[in-house]
Amino acid sequence: MHDIWNPWHGCKKCSEGCKNCYMYYLDSLRDRDGSVIYRTKSGFRYPLSKDKNGNYKVKSGEMLRVCMTSDFFLEEADEWREEAWQIMRQRSDVKFFLLTKRPERAAAHLPADWGDGYENVMLNVSCENQRRADERIPILLGLPFKHKGIMCAPYIGAVSIRKYLPSGQLEQVLCDGENYGGARECHYEWVKSLHDECVEYNVTFVFCGTGRHFVKDGKHYKLEGKVQSSQAYKSGLSFRGKPIDFILTDSAGSPVPRDRLYQPFFGEHCRECGMRLCCNGCSKCGKCST
Ligand code: SF4
Repeated sequence: MHDIWNPWHGCKKCSEGCKNCYMYYLDSLRDRDGSVIYRTKSGFRYPLSKDKNGNYKVKSGEMLRVCMTSDFFLEEADEWREEAWQIMRQRSDVKFFLLTKRPERAAAHLPADWGDGYENVMLNVSCENQRRADERIPILLGLPFKHKGIMCAPYIGAVSIRKYLPSGQLEQVLCDGENYGGARECHYEWVKSLHDECVEYNVTFVFCGTGRHFVKDGKHYKLEGKVQSSQAYKSGLSFRGKPIDFILTDSAGSPVPRDRLYQPFFGEHCRECGMRLCCNGCSKCGKCST
């Protein structure tokens, strides 16, 4: 996908949310073992790739989701990470969305010039249940990142972040049910209470999808494919809070003028998609029209 950058692939399971990891599942469909970790070839330098006219394929202002088939702070990737940081520094005009279940490794694996964080990098921790939320959010709040958020996905147990919101550091909360084989239930009440906490603190909350097994008012719903994100959208539980102010600069260090920043495009098929509030927009790849 255009808005995903996977500098490495493969991972080690480390918490409840990993039990039915979609990367392991998708790899198994290709007779591959998701625990085999490798540096990607052409994909490693994707943010620096250019089209035939010499222009970057990833435009200024776009958001790239990083390591969606691994974990950015995975130990086995330590030898490759410095080069990934260099790429994020070089593309200071692009936003990078990092997601990890290993925030405890972050402080010791930041680049020498990190200071209090790159303006274009956001760190998110996975909070699949209250135990992992209480384990990872305090670490996140203590880390020198300009932008921070959490991702409750797969959302497999109620999570309250009320005690962390007064810090004012959490800028976005994403939530998504579990999919594929072995998917566990996601409950409407869990989503609603998390939503209410975010609204109270004017923090953007995005209900991306219900997952395959959704429970509402004691009734169980089995939902497949795009219905999961359209039902999430129809719930009306996504909320646009205080915007995240990324300061994006060009190679000379000057702020990129707003009119030169990429504006996400949303097609007819995006009209009822739960991910709209946090999505980089449609890249017109044509996949969802098939
Ligand atoms: S951390 Fe993410 S990629 Fe790694 S095993 Fe767990 S769910 Fe899969």
